[in-house]
This record gives sequence, C-alpha cells and structure tokens, in this order.
Amino acid sequence: MATGPSTSGPITAAFEFAGDANSPEPWSSRVRTLTRLGRHREALALLRHGDPSPPPHALALPAAVISCTALALAAGVAQMHALAAKRGLLPASDAYLLSALLSSYSRLGLLPRAHQLLDEMPLASTAPTTVRTAFNSLISGCALHALPAACFAVFSRMRATGVRFDAITLLALVPSAPLGVVPQLQALAARAGLASDTSVANCLISAYARGGAALARQVFDEMPRASRDLVSWNAVLSAHSQNGLGVDALELYWRMRGRDGGGVEPDAVTLVSVLSSCAHLGARGVGLDVKRYVRERLPGFRANVQLCNALINFHARCGSLPQAQQLFDEMPKRSIVSWTALITGYGMHGHGDVAVNLFEAMVSEGIQPDNVAAVGLLSACSHAGMYDEGRKHFSAMKGTYKLRPTLEHYTCMVDLLGRAGRLDEARDLISSMPMPADGAVWGALLGACKIHKNVEMGEEAFEHVIKLEPSNVGYYVLMANIYTDTGQLDGVAKVRVMMKQRGLKKEPGCSYIEHKGKVHLFMADDHSHPQEKRIYKLVVKLEQLVKETTGGVNGSVVVGRTVKAAAPLVGFHSEKLAVAFGLLNTEAGGEIVVIKNLRVCDDCHVFLKTVSAVSNRAFLIRDASRFHRFEDGACSCRDYW
Ligand SMILES: [Zn+2]
Ligand SMILES: [Zn+2]
Repeated sequence: MATGPSTSGPITAAFEFAGDANSPEPWSSRVRTLTRLGRHREALALLRHGDPSPPPHALALPAAVISCTALALAAGVAQMHALAAKRGLLPASDAYLLSALLSSYSRLGLLPRAHQLLDEMPLASTAPTTVRTAFNSLISGCALHALPAACFAVFSRMRATGVRFDAITLLALVPSAPLGVVPQLQALAARAGLASDTSVANCLISAYARGGAALARQVFDEMPRASRDLVSWNAVLSAHSQNGLGVDALELYWRMRGRDGGGVEPDAVTLVSVLSSCAHLGARGVGLDVKRYVRERLPGFRANVQLCNALINFHARCGSLPQAQQLFDEMPKRSIVSWTALITGYGMHGHGDVAVNLFEAMVSEGIQPDNVAAVGLLSACSHAGMYDEGRKHFSAMKGTYKLRPTLEHYTCMVDLLGRAGRLDEARDLISSMPMPADGAVWGALLGACKIHKNVEMGEEAFEHVIKLEPSNVGYYVLMANIYTDTGQLDGVAKVRVMMKQRGLKKEPGCSYIEHKGKVHLFMADDHSHPQEKRIYKLVVKLEQLVKETTGGVNGSVVVGRTVKAAAPLVGFHSEKLAVAFGLLNTEAGGEIVVIKNLRVCDDCHVFLKTVSAVSNRAFLIRDASRFHRFEDGACSCRDYW
C-alpha cells in the first residue's frame, strides 16, 4: 500500500475499474464504510484490489478522495479528480463529490486547484444548495489552514454570486475572523435569521472571548434559555475564566448547575475552566466540590491529563500541596503541564529544593523543559532564596535546554539576585538583556530595593517602571514604602502627590477565609462582618501581645515595625481580621487558610509570625506573589517576599 505522495500506484489501478458501471452494489459502499471508519489504507486498497467489477464512482470516489486526504496523498486526490472528470462527473452535479474534492484541496493546501474547481462550476445551472456546499467547503478548508484572508475572499465571492450563506459558512468564518470583524458577522447572522442557531451563537461566544468576556456574555445572555447547550455554557465560562473574571465564572457555574442550566451537566471542559478560576481566586470550597463531582461522576478522570492538571494546579495554588502531589503520582500519563503545575506549586510554598528535584526528575524522564516550566523553576529558586541553583539553571536554560530567556525569566532572575542582596548584579543583568525590560522586570528590582532599603536604585527602578506601567498602583505603593522605611517622609509625600495627579487610588486590600462552605470576605478596617465586635476585640488584644512579645525579644528593626503596627494610624489590615475570624471560629490544631489580593505588609507579617507562636496555630496566607506559612513564630518565606 502506498505511503508517500508519489502514490500513483493504487490510484492508477483504480482507473482499471472505470470502464464498467454495472457492478453489484456492496463494493463501493464498503469503500465508503472503510473511509468512514478511518481505515483509509484499506479503503484505497479495496479500490485497487477489490471486486474486479468496477464500483459506481459517484459513490466510491468521494470516499476515496477523503481517504487520500487523510493520508496526505495530494497526487491521489488529483487523480480522483481527473478520473471524475473523465467519467463526466464534473463539473459536478454531485455536491458530495464536489465538496470532498474542494475541501481536500483546501486541506492539503492546494488552494489554486480548489479555486479552479469552483471556477469551473456552472453556477447558474447548478442547484443552489450544491453551490453553497462548494463555497462552504472551500471556506472551511481555508479556515483549517489558518488563512483568514482567503476565507473572506471566498466569502465575498459567495455573496457576489448571490448564494445564500448558512450556519456552516458562519461556523467556518467566525473563528478565523479578526476580532474587529466579528460584530459584522454577528449582524449578518442576525439579518439572515441565523443568530438564534445554537452552534452559531456558541461560535460567536468563543470568538468574542478572545477579546474579553463582555461581548461573549452578551451573546450568551441573549440566547433563549432552552437553546443553550453544554457548548454554550463551556464557551461563556471559559470566556470569563480566561479573562481573569473568576468570580463571574463561578457564578455562571452555579447557574449552570441550578435551574438555569436546564439539566445540562458539566463535562471535563467545564470543570477545567471552573478549577482554573478556583485556583486563581483561592476558592477552596468550590474547588473541593468540583473535585468530589469529578471523583463521583467521572471515574476515569485520571486518564484525562488536562483535567488532572487543572486539579493539581488548583490544589497547589489553594494550599494543599500533598493532594496535588498525590494526584500527580496517580496519573498514568503526565504532560509537561502536570510537572510545571507541581513545580510552580512547590515554588509558591517556598519549597525550592523540592521544585528543583522535580524539575531534574522531569528532565531525566526525557521531557524537554519549555519556557513555562523554566519560569516555574526559577521563581521557585527565587522564592526560596536559592541563589546558586537559580543562576545555574538560568545558564543551563540557554546552554543545555536551548531555551531563549524571555522577559518572565529575566524577571525571576532580577527577583532572585535582588532578594539575595545582589542589587548591582540585578541592575547589570537588566542592562545586558537582549530586549527592553518591561514593567515586571523593573518592578522586581523595585521590590528588591524595598527589601534592602535602597532608595537610590529604587528611584531608578521606579522611574522606569512608571513610564512602562503608569497606572499600576502597586509600584507607587512600593516606592512610598521604601521612603517610609528609610524615614524619607518628603519622598512619601512626593509619591502621594504623583498618585493624586494621576488619579490613582491604592487598590483596597481584601482577604478571605472559607468556613463551613461559606466565604468570609474582609476589607481593611471593615466593620461589616456580623462578628465584627469579637474580631476587633481579638485583634486589639493580639496587637498588644505582639507588641509585648517582639518588644521584649527581637532586635530594634522589628521593634520599630511592631510599634508602628500597634499604633492606631495603621488601621486593621484585612488579613488580621480574617485570621482573627479563623481563630475565633475554628478548632485548635487546624491550619487557618487566608487568601489575600495584595502583598502582605511588614506589619502584618510580624503580627502573623508572632500570633502563630502565641496561639500555637499555623496560618497559610496566599498573597499576591506566594504562600506564607506562619508557624511557631516563623514564616516559610524566611522574611523574603
Ligand atoms: Zn498589613
Ligand atoms: Zn512570609
């Protein structure tokens, strides 16, 4: 049987059957069946060696064309084409044969041939449905080859010939359309009465999702409830989760599970979106609910790599590393994404050594690291303060792994060097970068200057970073904190004025904690919680305790900070309120898990360390960059964050 493109053999042999059309039926249907079953080689072999009586070509040829395409036998398709022409089957009256040829040429990238075929069609005398099928095949083929311009050229021609397009046309066009053109296609669909078609609406939702969730959501909301199917829900869910709108994604998930869903059951695709939102938000309760659902309803889930990866990522980011590890160990087959999720998870928790071991185990299993895995590794080294390991792997990236460092890798390295106090080295690395540094790179240097109280280099980094990201409030706050820490109050005032002039407000800090399936959200100085009196009483008491404890034991720097923390000026940061709620409402011995949107400040860090000792409890706090595990008066970040 033929395997390459020069396969005139089997096809030429098929010509031998061309003379006689009186063969008994089953023969050509068998070719079609084999093609349908994906047994393409057998289909073509049958065409060659089958019954000596010839097949009715009108039936067997399209199947043979499809089989040739599946085997990438361009010459075979051309021969079938020639054979069909010789038999008088073309210009086609048979839409099936025509669309098989057209889409084969398009799929195989032989667009001029496809166009030629269309050119030869006597459009006026051909049934409109056949003409439409022909155009649709060509458009789909162009779409498959990621040739959006070609798609639209054919579409224009289709409209110029007065052929009405249908849902199939739109399903090919919409995904390949540039985002700006999607509204026009939507309008066309509406005018043609196709907007209510479920598959068209689903397609529009996915297309809009590329540019944000709002328009995708609008299409979804406008769909009649009964016509929303699983694909619609999955499309709108992923539109939200991919665009960082986790809360909305989870809300949609609950609607889907409830009456609004009309009995539509989530599948693995749904759950991957939901888990990614849970991981992002730190929504442990919902994520664990999804996990239960997966275990009960999708017993074979361990073979679904994507779903397992989403679960690993969820566990790792929501503070349950052992569960992430367990699932990873249970997977029969892992992808690089599975490894990366686990490496990144250990890194976020400050277990740089485990992350490095995992990375090396991955490499020794023959998996070539990619850029994402390398980011996970370098940031793990950075979070754990593993200067030598980080540098070693950074140079191995270029040498051994043949990866070209991206901005993200440089950010990790600047972070790593900066944390290690090697600010000049970090500054030099930025100068040596082959591409201009972005806000994140300068931001990493700024963060390091905060840790090491270096005003001069901090100002340099700040100047760069606000040029690149003028409205990122976090950087102004960092600079102001550097001035505060070094006692330069005029500097603080200067930054405040800049923020005011630019209309920037500090993003309000918020923390949440889950308790008995309910999320309790706290803002700074928030008095809205029903238990607020007890919570505030406890925080004040703890502040006093912290002041006494650290004041008596620790060095001058910490004393200075703690005194500040206890002063009424600082206010009640959200993580303190959340932890106090946890202490009041949970049993001794259990870990208290809090998710925070911003970085933990120095004051709260000291507070949490001390309270973990005096209350004999462990706190796991996920802030904007990593996990802090406070236990026995110390933090897993070793005061490096
Ligand atoms: Zn704080
Ligand atoms: Zn910490």
